Amino acid sequence: MSSFKTLDDLGDITGKVALVRVDLNLPMKDGSATDVSRVEAVKPTILELAEKGAKVLLLAHYGRPKGQRFSTMSTSFVQGDVEKVLDKEIMFIPEVMGPVVEQSIGILGNGDIGLLDNVRFWPGEEANDPEFARDMAAHGDFYVNDAFSAAHRAHATTEGLAHHLPAYAGRAMEAELKALDAALGNPEAPVAAVVGGAKVSTKLDVLTNLVGKVQHLIIGGGMANTFLAAKGVDVGKSLCEHELTDTANRIIDEAAHAGCTVHLPYDVVVAKEFAANPASLRTCNVHEVAEDEMILDVGPLATEALADVLKTCRTLVWNGPMGAFETEPFDTATVALARTAAALTQDGSLISVAGGGDTVAALAHAGVKDDFTFVSTAGGAFLEWMEGKPLPGVAALTA
Ligand code: ADP
Ligand code: MG
Repeated sequence: MSSFKTLDDLGDITGKVALVRVDLNLPMKDGSATDVSRVEAVKPTILELAEKGAKVLLLAHYGRPKGQRFSTMSTSFVQGDVEKVLDKEIMFIPEVMGPVVEQSIGILGNGDIGLLDNVRFWPGEEANDPEFARDMAAHGDFYVNDAFSAAHRAHATTEGLAHHLPAYAGRAMEAELKALDAALGNPEAPVAAVVGGAKVSTKLDVLTNLVGKVQHLIIGGGMANTFLAAKGVDVGKSLCEHELTDTANRIIDEAAHAGCTVHLPYDVVVAKEFAANPASLRTCNVHEVAEDEMILDVGPLATEALADVLKTCRTLVWNGPMGAFETEPFDTATVALARTAAALTQDGSLISVAGGGDTVAALAHAGVKDDFTFVSTAGGAFLEWMEGKPLPGVAALTA
């Protein structure tokens, strides 16, 4: 990984103005946030800058106003939640540049925090207009990006500002980049990747990137059905993308070429109807799935074999659940494998990095979210990273 500057590289910042990109796109209900973990993630960066005496100006987007001012999408709606998490009053500033921002900076004392309005109210944000970035940059002395979740977008506040001001990774960004580097950038081998979830089509680029980088590719979830079908297995009425069997075979070939072992389940949990604990529930070999049955989880023998694979590995990167984990008992393989990975991590033999909306939910369901080395909540940015794509927001920090 090319290196980037962190808050450790800041000199004396007393009285300096910090423009800090954060992710405050909080899930809201009845005027307050239902989950403030995004604020908690950026709290260390904000407080560190404030404690060092900077005037901290927070830049964030909220929703998709598409370059227009919508009063319903003002960042002022999250001000209260941010204040609660920081345990500090902050000043809301209803602009991102110009005299209002300049006057507000004059009012803020050293160590005070201001929250600028939704950067996406201005078309220059998503267009990454250099003039827009330059005008914003004129108010600041340096730029800190602590929003990895927005780093796959080349927008003015996620990428453009880095060209106009000295740029630093915030603490959350720093932790995320270090974890991702340890997982796929510069990992300790052998590396295993678990890829699950519903469909191959949503993760084609992920699979293609991984086969060249990992020694073990463990495929579970609905997408395993497409791979099984590609190998001639009759998967009954399982979720399966039959039109992608050629693609699945190509990935299997590429893996063989690259020395990557592809693990597919050889026993599975099936049912005739998708419901909790259905009467038709049974476990069978993949070759014994009946026409009216669907595969909803990886079976116990395969799960145990996969646990043994993890025991031989030093690094694990995981995206996508192994089964339809939201419905019991189809969470069994996901929970078992997650607990194995967590125990190996806690023993110090495995570096484990996971991400993806449903994956994070599944790890929380298994009670091991805090036992992995790193769990990314970044969604789109995490997936693009797994696809091996350069993230513009990260590239701008490492340039
Ligand atoms: P993530 O959000 O972590 O990237 P995905 O969105 O790709 O994960 O996939 C998660 C979904 O895949 C879950 O809703 C889960 O129920 C579904 N799924 C997993 N295995 C199966 C299966 N065998 N059949 C149908 N759906 C499945
Ligand atoms: Mg999902």
